Amino acid sequence: MTTPAEIGLLGRILGTFKWAWGRIQQRLHRLGDLERRVAILEKALARCPSEACPACGGREFRALKSEKIEPFEARRVHFRCKDCDYEDFLVRPVGQKLQP
Ligand SMILES: [Zn+2]
Repeated sequence: MTTPAEIGLLGRILGTFKWAWGRIQQRLHRLGDLERRVAILEKALARCPSEACPACGGREFRALKSEKIEPFEARRVHFRCKDCDYEDFLVRPVGQKLQP
């Protein structure tokens, strides 16, 4: 036979489980959002992860071409942002890799 004190205890335990279940569902929802955001970022960064546009901050700032600067042992690398059409170039010695 269940006493009123036991019923009260069961009610508090049930309330605790409902609260915990709500928290778990919130965390699972948040985890799903984060997984979707990470997937979008991984896709955006898959090709060339280090190039952010200095003008708009977009991730579409790409090297277009590289040309040798005569008579120096250097190359001029041209960049353009696909989002805002900002263009820039840098000059680097031949053989030097671009820094991220
Ligand atoms: Zn841009």
